[in-house]
Amino acid sequence: MAESQNRLVLQNFIGGQFVHCDSYIDSFDPSTGDVYCRVPDSGSAEVEAAVSAAKGAFPKWSSKSPLERSQIMNKLADLIEQRLEEFAQAESRDQGKTITFARTVDIPRAVYNFRFFASSILHHTTECTQMDQMGCLNYTVRTPVGIAGLISPWNLPLYLLSWKIAPAIASGNTVIAKPSEMTSVTAWMMCKLMDEAGVPPGVVNIVFGIGPKAGDALVAHPDVPLISFTGSTVTAQRIIERSAPHCKRLSLELGGKNPAIIFQDANLEECIPTTVRSSFANQGEICLCTSRIYVQRMIYEEFLKKFVDAAKKWKVGLPCDPKASMGALISKEHLQKVRNYVKKAREEGAQIVCGEGVDTLEIPSKNQKGYFMLPTVITKVKEGSCCMQEEVFGPLVCVVPFDTEEEVIEKANAVKYGLAATVWSRDVGRIHRVAQRLQSGLVWTNCWLIRDLNLPFGGMKASGIGREGGKDSYEFFTEVKTVTIKH
Ligand code: NAD
Repeated sequence: MAESQNRLVLQNFIGGQFVHCDSYIDSFDPSTGDVYCRVPDSGSAEVEAAVSAAKGAFPKWSSKSPLERSQIMNKLADLIEQRLEEFAQAESRDQGKTITFARTVDIPRAVYNFRFFASSILHHTTECTQMDQMGCLNYTVRTPVGIAGLISPWNLPLYLLSWKIAPAIASGNTVIAKPSEMTSVTAWMMCKLMDEAGVPPGVVNIVFGIGPKAGDALVAHPDVPLISFTGSTVTAQRIIERSAPHCKRLSLELGGKNPAIIFQDANLEECIPTTVRSSFANQGEICLCTSRIYVQRMIYEEFLKKFVDAAKKWKVGLPCDPKASMGALISKEHLQKVRNYVKKAREEGAQIVCGEGVDTLEIPSKNQKGYFMLPTVITKVKEGSCCMQEEVFGPLVCVVPFDTEEEVIEKANAVKYGLAATVWSRDVGRIHRVAQRLQSGLVWTNCWLIRDLNLPFGGMKASGIGREGGKDSYEFFTEVKTVTIKH
């Protein structure tokens, strides 16, 4: 590991080589607030070098058989898995998430992403139609698009980066990835395994740095025809503008304001622990986290009491503490932003039932500058207030009563986002009706975050454009051509 004054110093990975950058930015340890890592502050020169490497590697990589690419990807998955603990420790330190979450969710899923797309690439078929009356046979062929630009956020760093790299390279593209400047370490660690896995130089290039500089250079580069982006809706709007002159193909996975709808016949034994998890897992920093809980009035008081009791047991601790359910938030600015939502809710007359400003947070003295916050539950909040309308992306959830199915559907849909919803009921007819009418790319009933990677993932409205997943990712990362043959 490159170290300077005990600080980790990352380097870009271009054309199979680690490359020095002229300037660097600081990356902070969320549990202490101290700088612990230096990240290349790349710009257009570094992106240009990566484009050249990716272009050079494209002809050979794209003409390899899917099986050859699959074998290389499986090897990469094996190498990451062999170092699972090392990757989990790094992810937890860099992001502030608990070691348990990194060990059981982030890194295993990153490994699985490579294995899943290594396998799914072997099973796609194309279409064929007969037009016998014209003497024609029509069929489609798919080819890789070229150089894929991949931009990912800080909340699930390697998990979301591999969710993009894996389908892109499986389909025969070469890639330039830009991870979040706040969580770059595991991407850099993965680069160290590329050679051993057999990934040819230039197939995977990683350029580190901030969004408006490195990210923007990638989005605006004329030789990168495709951008897959996961991040905020505001950044996506900028990406749409910057890529418009080149008519780029875009996949945009964005923010959410996800409702949980709990009907009076719900199984609360299962619903409460799952809803606590869906609200506060990974510090509430998952785009799929619940942030508005609608509870049918007859069970509202019972639900609230049990939910708050369970939220109070959701232990905040150091990321390295295996007993902690929640670690530190990503940054000082983000912590402040989440706290401001609580402040604003209080000013608007809402009630803070537990958490921020109500209960005491116990953190060791050496971590006092860390970005910790308690799971916070708010009630008596108005539908139009910012806590009910805007994405908070932190450990804060609002609980609101409702009376009828019609009313709750209307309220659930009355936000600009449409990513994920959960519905709790034992009435299968009601589940079908509600799921059908929710404006949401994903609806989980009586569960949360169960994913079959074969199926489409993505959001409606301001939560995104396009879908990712087995077939959807393959279609996004390939061009389709229709061929007609007349005898
Ligand atoms: P962000 O939009 O600030 O940053 C995401 C990435 O975009 C980072 O790598 C950043 O450096 C880069 N970026 C920033 N400005 C850019 C620009 N002008 N041009 C190109 N790239 C730029 O988001 P974030 O704060 O890192 O992540 C949190 C957001 O991500 C939340 O809104 C969350 O809901 C969303 N998210 C969505 C999903 C999903 O699948 N829908 C998954 C995870 C996170």
